[in-house]
Amino acid sequence: MESRAPGDDHATPPSHLLAEAHRLLPGVIAVRRAIHRTPETGIHLPQTQKTVLRALAGLGLTVSVGEGLSSVVAVLEGAAPGRTVLLRADMDALPQQEDTGLEFASQREGVMHACGHDTHTAMLVGAARLLAARRQRLAGRVVFMFQPGEEFGGGAQLMLEEGVLGDAEEAPAVDGAFALHIAARYEAGTVHLRPGPQFAAADVLRITVRGRSGHAAAPHKVLDPVPVACEIVQALQTMMTRTVSVFDPAVLTITSVSAGSTSNVVPETAVLSGTYRTFTDTSRQVVRDGIMRVAHGVASAHGAVADVELIDGYPAVHNDPRFTAHVRRAAATVVGPARVHELPHPTMGGEDFSYVLRRVPGAMAFLGACPPDRSPATAPDNHSNHVVYEESAMAVGTAVHAAVAEAFLSGPPDAGL
Ligand SMILES: [Zn+2]
Ligand SMILES: [Zn+2]
Repeated sequence: MESRAPGDDHATPPSHLLAEAHRLLPGVIAVRRAIHRTPETGIHLPQTQKTVLRALAGLGLTVSVGEGLSSVVAVLEGAAPGRTVLLRADMDALPQQEDTGLEFASQREGVMHACGHDTHTAMLVGAARLLAARRQRLAGRVVFMFQPGEEFGGGAQLMLEEGVLGDAEEAPAVDGAFALHIAARYEAGTVHLRPGPQFAAADVLRITVRGRSGHAAAPHKVLDPVPVACEIVQALQTMMTRTVSVFDPAVLTITSVSAGSTSNVVPETAVLSGTYRTFTDTSRQVVRDGIMRVAHGVASAHGAVADVELIDGYPAVHNDPRFTAHVRRAAATVVGPARVHELPHPTMGGEDFSYVLRRVPGAMAFLGACPPDRSPATAPDNHSNHVVYEESAMAVGTAVHAAVAEAFLSGPPDAGL
């Protein structure tokens, strides 16, 4: 028997969208595997772009490609006028060697779709096919955003600059936006999201401590940057716990320490680098100020100098509470309410869909894809060279994309907002 989520009378009964997505699944898997075999990194993904263009051909979409990057934007016009909803998939891979043993494993040395963006791209192709066939039900427009350069390169921001949301800075031509991220740490076919912060701002720091080089046996005649750098590493952790509110989560990790080349020479410099993750502009600024103060202060206490470089990464992803509720309802029509879960807390990872969500109300959700022969608790996940996703979960992802868009466009004027 079919069941409907409360208050979602406009939605198609659940089995419909999911059943249609299952019919499309072999084609979605084929697109996914083609992209998986030939992964590309960064903002230039010519082969991936070609695969997407080929997969969208004949659907009656208005398709355009990026100028400065290999993006694809496809627009589906519904049968009646209405609002515009954007669905986004990122398309880039990671510079790491695949070790999954899959028969469609990467054929490119040192490049792998380890973050599942191949599945995102394939699911969005599936959603375009599904929604194009249901154009008559749609009042408004669906924008399919195929984005390069999520891992590196700020592809989302570049696509905004090239006008994916329309040209007007203050009045985007898009009313709501949605994206999915696949994850092997959740049971296949489940959906997970939360209102408010979901991904952290991910910034980078680099500190160069400058001393004076010389003989290791006469440290009093040189200025050793190594102990100074070590003190800075410790002091930064103290700074984090003493200056950032415990109710506003933040993490700072030094991931690289480099100095010297041999055992009897004091080096001239010691270089620290790492990342800090925050959710609010306030804590982001507190951490920036703290890094400057600690690096300069500790170095100066020892007569050394510190050069500090802070490189802004992607801002935090904040899910709009009303759009999040809309996604939960729409996803429940696909998988049933018991398989739609509220995340207990945000993740400290970063995501550049934040640039879209700073302009347009919307949300990002995780799609569970743990293979049935593995456990969600221990399965290798995003960025692992062993990660494997359950491909049948892509039918759920395809249907959820379609359900979110269709309910947004065919619902009452404030649906999802
Ligand atoms: Zn990633
Ligand atoms: Zn990712």
